Amino acid sequence: MRKRKVAVLGATGTVGQRFISLLAGHPWFELAALTTSERNAGKRYGDVTPWHFGEDMPAAIADMRLEATRPEVDAEICFSALPSEAAEQWESALAKAGHHVFSNVKTHRMDEDVPLIIAEVNPEHANALDVQRRARGWTGSIVTNGNCSAITFTLAAAPLHRAFGIERVVVTTLQALSGAGYPGVPSLDALDNVVPFIGEEEEKMEQETKKFLGSWDGSAFNDAEFQFSAHCNRVSVRDGHTETVSVALRGKPSVRDVTQAMRSFKGRPQALELPSAPKQPIVVRDERDRPQPVRDRMAGNGMSVVVGRVREDPAMGMKFVVLGHNTIRGAAGASVLNAELLAAEGCLGA
Ligand code: NAP
Repeated sequence: MRKRKVAVLGATGTVGQRFISLLAGHPWFELAALTTSERNAGKRYGDVTPWHFGEDMPAAIADMRLEATRPEVDAEICFSALPSEAAEQWESALAKAGHHVFSNVKTHRMDEDVPLIIAEVNPEHANALDVQRRARGWTGSIVTNGNCSAITFTLAAAPLHRAFGIERVVVTTLQALSGAGYPGVPSLDALDNVVPFIGEEEEKMEQETKKFLGSWDGSAFNDAEFQFSAHCNRVSVRDGHTETVSVALRGKPSVRDVTQAMRSFKGRPQALELPSAPKQPIVVRDERDRPQPVRDRMAGNGMSVVVGRVREDPAMGMKFVVLGHNTIRGAAGASVLNAELLAAEGCLGA
């Protein structure tokens, strides 16, 4: 695979920093540009970025100069961690200018010609790019990954929907503070507290899950059909969204059937041995008190979701807990994996 130049759009933010940590030393991608809002353009990355990770910022990254987001950015692939208003302004313009945009932002996720992809779940949705390029007259493209809670749930639910079919589902989330970006939720609202509302999150979970688990028929996306109810809560955890799930499945499978379907689930990233692919997309734990964010969020380098407490549910049939790292599998890592997949499948040109 030849090395492709990539840019991180919104490089100073929570997801932007995560992109940088995943792309430093990447075998296929070379970090060539970091973009910012006008206020920080021209400044040294290390001087204006409140680096979130324990280890020091790599010196070569700290010395890079930030540039304003522009269609002229010198990179084939643009990983977008922009705020939604900036994404509205720039993502289409970048695709029109020939860039392949892999976006974390809500702006284009539900567009009728924009694939919303989890690489293991619905890689065939990338076929929509032919329609997108033709309809919009672009040489570039936009591919999106979902909301962090929707990705975590969908990855665990995909093998169940495939093997049995989901009829109804109720999900309650316990979402980490880093999901709100930086500086995010004020400390006095977050500490010692649970906030039972996250703007638009419940709607995004429902819409995106149905698009992920739906189909692309050659001209349109068709949503998966099931009843979905989400309760989204912000809790005082740094990284890692925990979700408790109760689900009604067709055919009333046993705990053993459900566990087996999750454990054996693999997709194109594993078959192609993509650089960011975890060996097990879903790790199922048997201990009665797992998964926990502090212990399990880095499973598969943060790219596996961890399921536990699979058991019968008297109301819905089956229930379990799933945990996913929100800025890795739920954001930057998901985008990088999508870009690796499309590069390997020849969807980004030679
Ligand atoms: P964040 O921490 O607030 O970072 C956004 C960054 O964008 C800021 O550092 C801002 O800083 C920069 N920015 C603003 N205007 C810009 C422009 N025109 N060009 C380039 N950069 C610009 O937010 P985040 O959590 O990283 O989220 C980024 C996006 O990913 C959002 O759309 C969010 O909804 C989505 N997302 C986040 C998560 C998560 O877990 N956090 C998960 C999935 C999706 P400067 O002013 O310094 O440039």
